[in-house]
Amino acid sequence: MSLPVIARLPDALANQIAAGEVIERPASVVKELVENALDAGARHIRIETSAQGLGHIAVQDDGHGIPPDQLPLALERHATSKITTTADLFHIHTFGFRGEALPSIASVARLTLTSRATGSEQAWQITPDGILQPAAFSQGTRIEVADLFYATPARRKFLKSDRTEQRAVHDVLLKMALAHPAVTFTLIEDGAEVWHIPAAQGDFLQTYGPRLAALLGPDFSHAALPLHAERTEEGISLHGFISPPTVHAATNRQQYLFVNGRPVKDRSLLAAIKQGYGDVIPHGRHPLAVLFLTLPADEVDVNVHPAKSEVRFRNGNHLFGFIYAAIRQTLAGTSAATTVPVASQITPNPIGSALGSFGSPQIPSATSQITCTTPQIPPNPLFQATPQQLRKADNGEINEINQHVIDDHPLGAAVGQIGNTYILAETPQGAVLVDQHAAHERIIYQRLKAQFGQGRVASQPLLLPAIVPLPAADAATLLTYCSDLEKMGLVIESYSPTAVAVTALPALLGEANPAPLIRDLVEDFQEVKSSRNTLNQWLERVLSTFACHHSIRAHRRLSLNEMNDLLRQIETTPDCLTCNHGRPTVVQLPLLELEKLFERK
Ligand code: ADP
Ligand code: MG
Repeated sequence: MSLPVIARLPDALANQIAAGEVIERPASVVKELVENALDAGARHIRIETSAQGLGHIAVQDDGHGIPPDQLPLALERHATSKITTTADLFHIHTFGFRGEALPSIASVARLTLTSRATGSEQAWQITPDGILQPAAFSQGTRIEVADLFYATPARRKFLKSDRTEQRAVHDVLLKMALAHPAVTFTLIEDGAEVWHIPAAQGDFLQTYGPRLAALLGPDFSHAALPLHAERTEEGISLHGFISPPTVHAATNRQQYLFVNGRPVKDRSLLAAIKQGYGDVIPHGRHPLAVLFLTLPADEVDVNVHPAKSEVRFRNGNHLFGFIYAAIRQTLAGTSAATTVPVASQITPNPIGSALGSFGSPQIPSATSQITCTTPQIPPNPLFQATPQQLRKADNGEINEINQHVIDDHPLGAAVGQIGNTYILAETPQGAVLVDQHAAHERIIYQRLKAQFGQGRVASQPLLLPAIVPLPAADAATLLTYCSDLEKMGLVIESYSPTAVAVTALPALLGEANPAPLIRDLVEDFQEVKSSRNTLNQWLERVLSTFACHHSIRAHRRLSLNEMNDLLRQIETTPDCLTCNHGRPTVVQLPLLELEKLFERK
C-alpha cells in the first residue's frame, strides 16, 4: 500500500477553502465589499446586484482608494493594510484585518477591481485574468463580482430561494446602514434603485430616527424608547432604541446588536435583553431593539469567526449585567410621563423622504402598534377596585338569576369588570378573574381552527383594500403563500413590488387592523422557514397570529350580558384556560384563599 503524500495546496485551492468559510452566499460578498468601503472611509456606497447577486454584484465607494502598485497585493491572501503586528490584532478598529475577502471572492467568481487612490491622476484596474490596465474612474474603488461560484458550482446548490438570498442582502445592508448613519447607501437591483438612504446628521434622534423608521418600519420607530447607559470609567456605553412592552414580535430577528459598530450575534447579550424585559411582554414574544455597544477595543476579540459575525468578550458576565440593567432602567421609565416616544421627535423627517421606495403607499393605520397589547397588571386588582370600576349587579332579581347561573356553570356569574380589562365572576367555589382580551383571543383561535378544519375560514371583504408597505422580499414571500392564506380567510394581492393589498380578513377578526397583522405574518414565515416546522405547526402559528389581532381589545367596557356570554364561550372552548401565548386567561380565587387573605383561616 502506498503511503499518503503530503503536498502544499495550490493558492487557488487554499483560497477556495477560505472562501468556503467567508463567502457563503451573495450576501457575504456584499458584506465584505461594503466593509472594505467603510474601512476606506467612504461617504457614499453604491451597491448593484443582478439576479439576486448571482448575475453580478458591484460595490462602488468614494473612499481613499488603492494605489496602482498595491492593486495586485489587494488580491493576495493574507495581504492587508489594516494590521501589521500581533498587538494590532487585539486593538482592531476596522472591519477587515484578515486579508482574506478579496482573494476568496476572486477564487470563486470573476472579480474586477478598479480604483483611483486619493491624489492619483489615473484610475487602474485589474481584470479577472490578472491584467493591470488604466481605467476611467473618478475617485475611490469599484469592485465588480460576476459569475459567483462558477468555480465551485457545488456551492450554488446550497443557495436558498432567490427571495431568501435577496433578503439576506437586504439584511446585511440594513445593519450596515443602521450602524453608519453618516454614510449614504444606494441599492440598485436589476437596474432599479430600490433603496436610497441619505446620510443623516444631528443629535442622536435626528440621526437614527429616520433610518429606524425607514428600515424597521414605522411601528417600531413610533413607539421606540431611546436608551442611553454609560460606565465612563470603564469606557463602556450602550445607546439605542428598544420597544416598549406593548410592541413585540414573533421572533427575535428584529433585535440588532452592534459591538463597536460591527453587527454581531451574541446569544448571551440577546439573553440579557430578553431577561431585562422579564415578564412584561407575553410569553413567547420578543422585544425589538437596536443597540450600539461601545467598549475599548481590547475588551473584545473579533478574531473568532471567519465572517466576524461573532465576537468574544473579555468580561461577558459584566456586559450581561450592564445591558440587563440598562433595559430595566429604560422600561422602568415607560409609565412615567417623562418618556417621549421617538416618533414625536423626528417630525421634520418623514419616512417618505428618508427612503425612496419604502416611502411608497403609506396608510394611517400602518402606524399603530405591531401586535397585541399586554395590559399593565396592577399589583392586586381586587383591592384597587373602586365602586365605579366594580359594576355590581344592583337588584335582587338579577341576584336570583345569578345564583342559578353560579350553581350551573364552572365560571359562574359575572359580578363586574375591573379596569375595563378583567371580569370578576362568582363561582360555586368562590370567584374567578378573567382576562377578557386573552380569553377572546383563545376563543377566536379555536374557532378559526374549527372553521379551517371544515374546509376554509370565513372571510369578510374590506370596504377599501388596505395597502401595506413591505420590503420587496417580504412582499414576495407572502404572495407565494397567498392561496394558503386565502383558505385561512386572509386575501392579499400584489400591489407594488414593495406593498401588498389586503382585500379581505377572516370574518372573526372584526375590524382588525391589517398592517400590523401582515407584519407579524412576515415574521412568522421567517421563523417557520428557519425552524422546519410541520405543516400543522405552521397553520397553528398563522391562526394564532390572526387571533392575536382580533379587534375586541382589552380596555373595553362590557355589559353584564356580554361578560356572561364570554364566560359561557370560555366554558365551551377547548384549551381555553391559557391564551395563545401561554399566559393564563382565568385565575381562580377559591373561597378558601379569600378567607386566608382576610386571616379568617
Ligand atoms: P482586509 O479587509 O481584511 O484587509 P480584504 O481582502 O477585504 O482584506 O482587502 C484587502 C486590502 O485591499 C485591504 O486591506 C485594503 O487595503 C484594500 N481594499 C479592499 N477594498 C478596498 C476599498 N474599497 N477601498 C480601499 N482599499 C480597499
Ligand atoms: Mg475586507
